[in-house]
Amino acid sequence: MRKRFIAGATCPHCQEKDTLAMWCENSVDVVECVKCGHQMREADKQARDQVRTNEQVIGIFHPE
Ligand SMILES: [Zn+2]
Repeated sequence: MRKRFIAGATCPHCQEKDTLAMWCENSVDVVECVKCGHQMREADKQARDQVRTNEQVIGIFHPE
């Protein structure tokens, strides 16, 4: 399973930067902080907004 780090994103739990890794699990985008283990799912709108706010790069949550 490929994981990619989200540049510039801040973990909402431990406030660390550049610790959020993201991958797709059962067609659901999962974001996890490798530092504290905090996990967010694509279905969690708050998580999506959090990532979008912090990361201006790629629109990773867009369907392909
Ligand atoms: Zn964290």
